[in-house]
Amino acid sequence: MNLAQRALPRVVVVGGGIGGFTTALALALRGMEVQVLERAPEFTEIGAGLQFGPNANRALERLGVLDAVLKTAVLPTKFAIMDVYTGAELYHAKLGEVLASRYGAPYTVMHRHDLLTALMEGARATGRVEALPGKEVVDLAQDSTGVRVTCADGSTYQGDVLVGADGVRSIVRRLVLDDSEPLMSEYVIYRGPGPRPEGIEDAVMLYTGDQMHLMQYPIQGGAMVNRVLSFRSTKGKPGSDEWGTPEELFDRFSVACDHVRAALPTLDLEKKWVQFDRAPLAGWAQGRVALLGDAAHAMRQYLAQGAGQAVEDALALAEALSARPDDIPAALARYEEVRFPRASAVQMNTRFFGEFTHFGGIEALVRNYLLKILSSDDYELVEWLYGDGSVPPPVPPRSLNLY
Ligand SMILES: Cc1cc2nc3c(=O)[nH]c(=O)nc-3n(C[C@H](O)[C@H](O)[C@H](O)COP(=O)(O)OP(=O)(O)OC[C@H]3O[C@@H](n4cnc5c(N)ncnc54)[C@H](O)[C@@H]3O)c2cc1C
Repeated sequence: MNLAQRALPRVVVVGGGIGGFTTALALALRGMEVQVLERAPEFTEIGAGLQFGPNANRALERLGVLDAVLKTAVLPTKFAIMDVYTGAELYHAKLGEVLASRYGAPYTVMHRHDLLTALMEGARATGRVEALPGKEVVDLAQDSTGVRVTCADGSTYQGDVLVGADGVRSIVRRLVLDDSEPLMSEYVIYRGPGPRPEGIEDAVMLYTGDQMHLMQYPIQGGAMVNRVLSFRSTKGKPGSDEWGTPEELFDRFSVACDHVRAALPTLDLEKKWVQFDRAPLAGWAQGRVALLGDAAHAMRQYLAQGAGQAVEDALALAEALSARPDDIPAALARYEEVRFPRASAVQMNTRFFGEFTHFGGIEALVRNYLLKILSSDDYELVEWLYGDGSVPPPVPPRSLNLY
């Protein structure tokens, strides 16, 4: 029997975020029928901005949605690291055309909703994706013939494959792999997307200081600016909300330069975000069930790769299932084999880059010196991340106790 004659698997995807819809699109483009079950009453993305490196945009191009994304995405000219106290530039890397021609796709910054819309429209256009909001998956079962999920409203869905793209607190992960809680970092985040004031460049700007930072970049064709302020609060306790308060935020950033302090009144102080991640853990593929995106490899935001890695997962999963539609456990095991080493390396390097961003004292002085002598068109440090996979990832130092 040749490939074209083999029956393609029917896939149930749990979670209608960026990971879930990218998966649905990637599978549907390969001819598979997909149902996306999302617990929220509508499909939406919480939070505003997202950076996508060339690796993630190459994947979007292969899925045929990069042009749609580029209608509202901004192509920043540089990624700059500034001193949070003085506002002085410590370093910048050229992005724009230089990076795009080196890696075959641009670096972009965009509104999360714009990306989700492009993915959903791409999925809908295939005619093979059924998107079902208001479906909270509460249980699953699998045997040698298929998978079945049960939702909170009592409805059930069946397929040949189940993909858990249900985020950092994934129920699919809990049921098939690991029921531990994700790790809470002591960093708290406040966000402030809003109209773009005068003087904000088409650039990704990271203002770094001792255990705090501001990340800022334009989105939505440059009409808006996305701002994220984050700082470490040692008062944090799992389950308690009495820490990382707006008072602490204002106190910590009182020593920042004018530009950074000007961001404070723009923040939504009603909503603080706590960061969670996980250490790498193998076992994403369990028979006919696979984990993907944050459900598989939740990571901190410092390399701006969480969603990008989910997009890479989706392509790898679609390729593995098309190659072995007759042996689903083998196809899913192949997907994990391809993706686990890379996603794990990104997870751990993300923790390292978080430490690097938040150095204080002597470590910050050394970091700032090294940044100043680094050339703006030296891409050696990101070659493993944005390139074709031929450069191995760095191994973060064990001495930093990141593991
Ligand atoms: C401050 C911050 C900045 C970031 N910046 C970037 C960036 O610049 N670039 C980047 O690539 N990444 C970034 N990330 C990471 C990125 O947001 C995540 O990695 C990405 O959104 C994960 O997508 P996902 O689809 O795997 O999970 P999610 O986005 O969490 O989606 C999971 C979906 O599953 C649904 N769900 C959950 N449980 C159930 C259930 N039981 N039944 C049905 N549905 C369910 C949820 O409602 C949700 O819609 C950032 C993260 C943070 C916190």
